[in-house]
Order: sequence, then C-alpha cells, then structure tokens
Amino acid sequence: MAVPKRKTGRAKTNSRRSSHSLEATASSLCSQCHEPKVPHRVCPTCGFYNGKEIIETN
Ligand SMILES: [Zn+2]
Repeated sequence: MAVPKRKTGRAKTNSRRSSHSLEATASSLCSQCHEPKVPHRVCPTCGFYNGKEIIETN
C-alpha cells in the first residue's frame, strides 16, 4: 500500500478544512405575508414576488 512520504503539515490540514464548516443559509421576510422566504425567489406561502402574484396558492 502506498504511504505518504511526508507528514501533512498543520497549515495544509487547516487550509483543507477551511471550507468544511456550514454557514447559515440566507433568508428574508416576505413583504406580502411576512413569512420567512429564500431571497430572490417567489414566496412559497403566498406566491407573491415583487408585489405581484406569480403562482396560485390555496
Ligand atoms: Zn409571502
């Protein structure tokens, strides 16, 4: 089995892991129904985007 020739240094290990942490996803409040929604997407609760009804909701 192949074995690494050199020990992986602290800087290399830490820089590899620098992207491992999870970030909280962005969210905003709907201007129509004030429910949390994904920014730049039609609100799944009321179907409004930019003050207009885009999709029909019950
Ligand atoms: Zn809404």
